Amino acid sequence: MTGTAVVGGGIVGAAAAWRLAERGESVTLFDRRDEGRATDAGAGIAYAPPVEQLAPPDRELAIRSHRYLGVLAETLRSQYDLDTVGVTERPFYKVALETQSLVTTGIDTVRRYIDRVDHLQQSAVTVLDEQDVRTAVPWLRDVEGAITFETGIRIDGRRLTEALVNAGTEEGLEVCNTDVSGIEVNGGRVNGLKIGDGEVIDVDRVIIAGGAWSAAFASALGCSIPVSPQRGQIIHLEHADLATGDWPMVSTFDGGQYLVPWAEGRVAVGATWEDAGFAPWPTVDGIETMLACARDLVPSLETARFHEVRVGLRPRSPDGRPILGKVPDIDGAFVATGHGGGGLQRGPFSGYLVADRCLQGAVEFPLEAFRPGRFAEAG
Ligand SMILES: Cc1cc2nc3c(=O)[nH]c(=O)nc-3n(C[C@H](O)[C@H](O)[C@H](O)COP(=O)(O)OP(=O)(O)OC[C@H]3O[C@@H](n4cnc5c(N)ncnc54)[C@H](O)[C@@H]3O)c2cc1C
Repeated sequence: MTGTAVVGGGIVGAAAAWRLAERGESVTLFDRRDEGRATDAGAGIAYAPPVEQLAPPDRELAIRSHRYLGVLAETLRSQYDLDTVGVTERPFYKVALETQSLVTTGIDTVRRYIDRVDHLQQSAVTVLDEQDVRTAVPWLRDVEGAITFETGIRIDGRRLTEALVNAGTEEGLEVCNTDVSGIEVNGGRVNGLKIGDGEVIDVDRVIIAGGAWSAAFASALGCSIPVSPQRGQIIHLEHADLATGDWPMVSTFDGGQYLVPWAEGRVAVGATWEDAGFAPWPTVDGIETMLACARDLVPSLETARFHEVRVGLRPRSPDGRPILGKVPDIDGAFVATGHGGGGLQRGPFSGYLVADRCLQGAVEFPLEAFRPGRFAEAG
């Protein structure tokens, strides 16, 4: 083949592959569907503006990514006639627990958080005190207060990825469920990929979107891709008596504990944040911690049925920023990874941006702060 290869078929790679195909590029998506694929485990919370004091480029990327989700969902539905694309509007509550280290003075702290939110964005957010929260979500444990985001979005990572691949296929995208074991570089440009049993195929360009596994290509590209796996275990519970269809998504301020409601009494409760290397399996400790978290957040979940545990490896970068853009000194090599715990929200927009960067050079959002070369420079 010639044209562009995308390595990795999680949400980031699928988004990039669709965008390339939509723009008429000849593109093949290579994916070996590793156990621990983060997209398959992700909880699916997306919201903006972020209140975690993210500095400008990160904050702007989060806001633009959130906005893009609505645009993308509409495009997938209308342009490809897809019914389910895995993107649903759903309010989001960020709640303050009295025991939380981040929140020591309750509602006043909540109000201080909201003061940091750009005034232009405030219409979408509201502050609730203890009593307001109890009235709005009586099934939730007692909390000190909450910020609510009316424009929250719930993402089903599996569905959205599938929708992107289906849309891409309609545009001529080829999908190849195989391993990419190497990249051939000649005269300072990418010209081949080693796949499967060692067959080498011609390519003009490659986008590395391999999630936690992306670092494997660093030496071939002569560029540091310092992504490491951070394990997340998340449990899914079911309780026929709970009207979860009406529930908002809820997270504690530090993001350590959260729940995402689904239809028919199903609730996902997460998650662990573990340095366990490439070990994509559930553990006794992880499940125990999540069960305790579920009971703590929603006492009535004590009698819920245990449905499943999902495990994903978040692709974490050293500075917490995604790694997006062209590899220095090698023509035709691009990277789109490192989204850590925020890739369901940011991944679709990142994939779109890197696809555009790959085809035309310039893109509508500045990628400078996210460039792959920044780690080598820092070292
Ligand atoms: C428990 C948990 C909860 C989360 N909750 C949220 C949330 O609420 N909101 C949010 O925004 N984000 C969330 N995330 C983060 C989000 O899921 C990830 O950031 C995102 O899915 C990463 O997508 P990706 O495409 O980069 O990687 P992945 O989904 O991991 O996909 C990478 C793919 O590349 C393939 N691959 C790698 N190397 C090769 C190769 N050499 N050849 C072929 N294929 C290859 C792998 O097999 C895999 O299929 C959560 C993650 C976890 C684990």
